[in-house]
Amino acid sequence: MSIKIDLKNCIGCGKCIEVCPGNLLYKNQEGKAYIKYPSQCWGCASCLKECNNDAIKYFLGIDIGGRGTTLSVKKDGFNLYWVFEKPNGERITIKTNQKESNNY
Ligand code: SF4
Ligand code: SF4
Repeated sequence: MSIKIDLKNCIGCGKCIEVCPGNLLYKNQEGKAYIKYPSQCWGCASCLKECNNDAIKYFLGIDIGGRGTTLSVKKDGFNLYWVFEKPNGERITIKTNQKESNNY
């Protein structure tokens, strides 16, 4: 699993860099985030949850039926909207609440 950062949407806030437990994310010369060691990403999704600019896409592994499907997260207060986008453009959104995370 790995992620891809869309430089068009990245505003260089650095939040993803701060939370990556593997120190895999850095800023380029334009101050935008990029993943330096994609093969070392273990898909914890921490960076995904921090980005409010729809700049990080997470590639779902083939072992869980990914087949090109990506995942991104939008935040609204304590609500997280997990958006799955299939290669054919179909979108599925699942809402979770961070205050109820112990219930999932
Ligand atoms: S959290 Fe999103 S907008 Fe901020 S630096 Fe990372 S990719 Fe860019
Ligand atoms: S998914 Fe986790 S390990 Fe991979 S780049 Fe994001 S924060 Fe780092």
